Formats: sequence, C-alpha cells, structure tokens
Amino acid sequence: MDTKATSGHKIVHPFSGMITCGSCGKNMTRKTVSKGKNKYIYYACSTSKKNGCYSPSMLREDSLINMVTQKVKERIIKIEQLELIDNRSNYSNFCGNTLSLRILDLDGKIRKLSQFKSNLYDSFAQGIITAGDFKDLQGLYEKEISILEDKRLSLIPTLQDQTEDVSDYFSWKDVFLQYLNMTKLDRPAVAKMIQGIRVISKEEIVVDFAYQHEYETATQYTEWGCKNG
Ligand SMILES: [Zn+2]
Repeated sequence: MDTKATSGHKIVHPFSGMITCGSCGKNMTRKTVSKGKNKYIYYACSTSKKNGCYSPSMLREDSLINMVTQKVKERIIKIEQLELIDNRSNYSNFCGNTLSLRILDLDGKIRKLSQFKSNLYDSFAQGIITAGDFKDLQGLYEKEISILEDKRLSLIPTLQDQTEDVSDYFSWKDVFLQYLNMTKLDRPAVAKMIQGIRVISKEEIVVDFAYQHEYETATQYTEWGCKNG
C-alpha cells in the first residue's frame, strides 16, 4: 500500500482557501472519498440546509480544475486581444489616466440624455405626455446636456496637457500573459490570477479574477478606442 502521499508533507492544493459555496458564501472543504479501489476528491459546502445554506454545493475536484482552467484560459485570451488592440490603435496615452474615464462617463451621460430627448416627441405624439410636459422636459434635457457638454469641453485641454507615464498602467496584463501557454494550473498561477472561486452548481462556477477593475477599464477603453480611434 502506498501511503507516501499522505505522510507528513504539507501539500498546498491549487485552490486552498479559495473555494466558497455560491449559495451561503462559506468556504468549501476538500474531502477524499474512497469507493472500492478508487479515490475521489470533492469540494463540499460544510453548511447544511438546516444550518442556513439554501443549496449546499458539492463537486469533484477534477471537474472544478477543468472549469477553472477553462475560465482562466478564456480570460488570458481576452487580455491578449486587448493587448493587440492597444498596440494597433496606439491610444494608450488616452487610456492611461482617470481624466479620460471622466470624459468617457460624460459621453455616456450625454448620449443617454440625447436619447431621452429624442424619445420625447414620440411620447408626445402618442399622447403619453402633454404639449406642456413635452416643452418643459425638452428644455430640461437641453439644459442638462449643455451643462455636461461644457464640462466635457473643459476637460479636453487638460487631458491633452497631461504627460502622465502610463507604462505601468498595463503591467497587470503581464501577470496573466505569462501563462499564455500554460498547460496545467498550479498554485503559484492560481494565487497570482485568482482571488476566489464561487461554486454555483456542479456545472457552474464564478471565478473572481485579480485586477478585475483594471480589466474592465481596459475593456471599456478598448471599445472606445475601436469606435473613435
Ligand atoms: Zn453553502
């Protein structure tokens, strides 16, 4: 009988301390179950229904590894694509500062208000609002839009003046890109890229990635860059 694997050595499993139950939010425990000659490793929610877990999750470790690996690969590919787009449109200076985020935010608000404004006439024509309301609301939207547009215009010269060094801004991507050709997810890779994993069911997990905010911002900028760059 081979007992070497279980004696003495402290093995840190790739997901140690990272797996939580999607239903109750508590940590899931790693368990080994023997069935005849075979051993199966499971992660299971340790809270029972009686103790407040609506639907205690349980799934096999090998299937968890497959799902996490798949999600990590997808994320790395998306980040690689962001990188390619960044290089192509060369707008990384624009991306590098928070000012551009404010301008982007104003753009969105202006677009939304303009949309509201253009829907007003339809509402009036369909008898949903009165002529008086139509006039009042139209004035209100126009005023708000012009305030936002002034604000936007006042920010642009400041943006052009900024010579912020943005070389560090994208360095987080390398954390992921170094695993581009990864075949097996080990503990160091997991620790660098993942903050937590929530198990929703045997088929569904949610991976909370590191640098999520940076990723979302970069995605937003990239979309902006594609449309306007
Ligand atoms: Zn639970």
